[in-house]
Amino acid sequence: MKSVLLLSGGLDSAVALAECHDDTIAVHFSYGQTAERQERQAAQALSAHYGVTLEEVSIPMFPRPGSKCPVHVGDKPENVPGRNMIFLAYTESLLPADEYVMGAHLGDLRNGCQCRTLKLVTAQWLLTGPPVIRVQMRTKADLVRLGNLLGAPMELTWSCYWGDPRPCGACASCEERAAAFAEAGVLDQERVSASG
Ligand SMILES: [Zn+2]
Repeated sequence: MKSVLLLSGGLDSAVALAECHDDTIAVHFSYGQTAERQERQAAQALSAHYGVTLEEVSIPMFPRPGSKCPVHVGDKPENVPGRNMIFLAYTESLLPADEYVMGAHLGDLRNGCQCRTLKLVTAQWLLTGPPVIRVQMRTKADLVRLGNLLGAPMELTWSCYWGDPRPCGACASCEERAAAFAEAGVLDQERVSASG
């Protein structure tokens, strides 16, 4: 089965890649996100690690009202509502496949930003059959445990919303990552190298 995986360069998609890298093409989107360079580098490193082809796509997104940056709310980088729906639709048009895989976790269903998108794609997955859109349904800590079990190079991933050379350790994404590794009892090698 030919799969296309949305590879953001974060933890969720990295573990998804570790699960299904055979006969898989990865797609990475640059859309003006604050950590665009870091996320693209992470996607490149992850796809090189698994020897999968990486399609890099750059699409413009409009700034939100009152914000200069397309992915900011005010002056803070945040999740973009509906972002994954845009990426999935774009990917399906770009690359025909039997299956589209999107890394996610249960926490995404509880936060408002991605909630509707994930519910919608999950409903499509359940109702319409192929092309399948597969969404992981695990807690973030379980995702870390699975990544550890599969030997996923989680140290290559990027989670921070900001585009500084090193993760800030304070944004919502950094905090979520730290909590997941702590709950899983796994050492975050990204943080070890970042603090060195
Ligand atoms: Zn951060």
